[in-house]
Amino acid sequence: MIGWPIGHSRSPLIHNYWLRQHGIAGEYRAEAVPPDAFPEFLKSLTHRHYVGANVTLPHKEAALRLSLPDDRAEAVGAADTLWFEGGALRSTNTDVEGFLANLDAAAAGWDRTSDAVVLGAGGSARAVVFGLRERGIARIHLVNRTAERAVALRTRFGEQVDPASAAELPGLLAQAGLLVNTTSLGMRGQPPLVIDLAPLSTGAVVCDLVYAPLETQLLAAARARGHATADGLGMLLHQAVRGFSLWYGTKPSVTRELRALIEADLAKT
Ligand code: NDP
Repeated sequence: MIGWPIGHSRSPLIHNYWLRQHGIAGEYRAEAVPPDAFPEFLKSLTHRHYVGANVTLPHKEAALRLSLPDDRAEAVGAADTLWFEGGALRSTNTDVEGFLANLDAAAAGWDRTSDAVVLGAGGSARAVVFGLRERGIARIHLVNRTAERAVALRTRFGEQVDPASAAELPGLLAQAGLLVNTTSLGMRGQPPLVIDLAPLSTGAVVCDLVYAPLETQLLAAARARGHATADGLGMLLHQAVRGFSLWYGTKPSVTRELRALIEADLAKT
């Protein structure tokens, strides 16, 4: 994992767990690399015996420019996973996969709906919207504090994206089979997410990308109303699967033991 700063990353815990589990002699390290040293660092990956890397803030856009991105990274406008293929440094965005695989695991059949409501229009919303489009969700209603950013996502991803206002939420929730929070609201240290779930139909699925706290107020309220839910930690764990598969040629599993390991680590902070 390459970042600046790098301190709080859980990726080493996840990947080193899988390396041990699969008996692979390797190590996943965190590398603190400042932005001006990032291009040189990427060039030296092989020399440093790395088979690939994850990148986090502030390097995701630079990683995209300095590699050969796949469709997902290109569409999202940010790369978080790098690997070598036929001598080329390739990149992808694994948030899309993490988001979809987490929903599949937590609420199979969630994609039978035609309407989804997405709160937020930042970096993670781009991955979420791309994933929802990939799964054929016909209408993606996007509600964001800064309306222009929601409009920008429509320009980027097309007509399926419907920028909407908070005042429209009750009507939109009534039609939606999926509600996703991609804002940082509800995160520890941030203001709460205030939303009335009453208009949601009983079969609707609620997903929160925030994973600290593990059970956000949104997820607690959704569970209390009987909705199926998918949490941010699930997405974090599922997004790591692709990188490991690309680097080591074997697909790891998101086990209960791994989840407990990361939960324990999150509880320390
Ligand atoms: P960004 O900074 O790119 O976007 C933040 C979003 O939150 C914007 O839509 C912003 O609205 C909105 N927002 C922030 N503060 C407020 C506020 N006070 N009132 C209303 N809206 C607000 O962040 P990311 O998209 O990268 O991340 C968002 C969250 O998702 C974080 O909690 C992050 O940890 C989590 N995440 C989880 C992942 C996982 O694997 N589980 C993966 C990626 C992210 P505006 O445009 O108006 O500023």
